[in-house]
Amino acid sequence: MPEMPEIETIRRSLEPHIVGRRIENVEILLPRQIKWPEPMAFAARILQTEVVRLDRIGKYLILQLSNDVSLVFHLRMTGQLVYVAAGAEAAGQHKRLIIYLDDGARLVFSDTRTFGTMYAMHQDEMWRVRGISEMGPEPLSDDFTAEYLMQAVSGRKTRIKSFLLDQSKVGGLGNIYVDEALFLAGVHPMRLAGTLTVGEVQRLHDAVNKVIADGIADGGTTFRDYRDGNGDRGSHQDHLFVYGRDGQPCRNCGTALEKTKVGGRGTRFCPACQKMQ
Ligand SMILES: [Zn+2]
Repeated sequence: MPEMPEIETIRRSLEPHIVGRRIENVEILLPRQIKWPEPMAFAARILQTEVVRLDRIGKYLILQLSNDVSLVFHLRMTGQLVYVAAGAEAAGQHKRLIIYLDDGARLVFSDTRTFGTMYAMHQDEMWRVRGISEMGPEPLSDDFTAEYLMQAVSGRKTRIKSFLLDQSKVGGLGNIYVDEALFLAGVHPMRLAGTLTVGEVQRLHDAVNKVIADGIADGGTTFRDYRDGNGDRGSHQDHLFVYGRDGQPCRNCGTALEKTKVGGRGTRFCPACQKMQ
């Protein structure tokens, strides 16, 4: 699933193409992926508006429109949002929504597994997008401090990996960047969150910010479906320490990396660099 670095990369790659463009038409190919309002009203809210700005909150991409409507996308597992220039062919078999812009270009939402969601929200309705209204502070933001993290893990008996995946605690993280951050911090993914020392929390805070910043700098991580707004792959998969490397030697110490499950999620770690104690 695309995480914060992938959505940020999509935001940056789409922004220069679509800001200032007017939405002339919209083709809804799979209505059930529109969660609010119902599809006809959704179309009415976005038609003949101008794209003012692209925002991102956690894993949500938001097109701010000139009528104060927020067009919100969550790509989930396999969603893609790609800009297709005027006259170019739109790749892919699983198009779910096509936005036609006034310069002849299109913004094409494709989604193989159809878990992605879309909303066209007035500002006083944004609470309906629970993933946004209940989201915790994001990495690299002013609110995401080591002090915040220390207070948030305090007394918690959930495993630190599950804690970091909880979007209400830290917004924007997913399986890849959590495994990477725990490795860089030298923290075992099965540790109970409340047992981390102040020093470990400090290292984890710094590691979360580092993996997210590195992921953005590399244009995201592509294993299968993720593409940026131009349809290009990211390159962070070439720089991962543990994710997707189970059985291979640790880049720090050479020990074979292990794979386990934490909260039902596949989890990679180094048994030597990330001790339970
Ligand atoms: Zn190691």
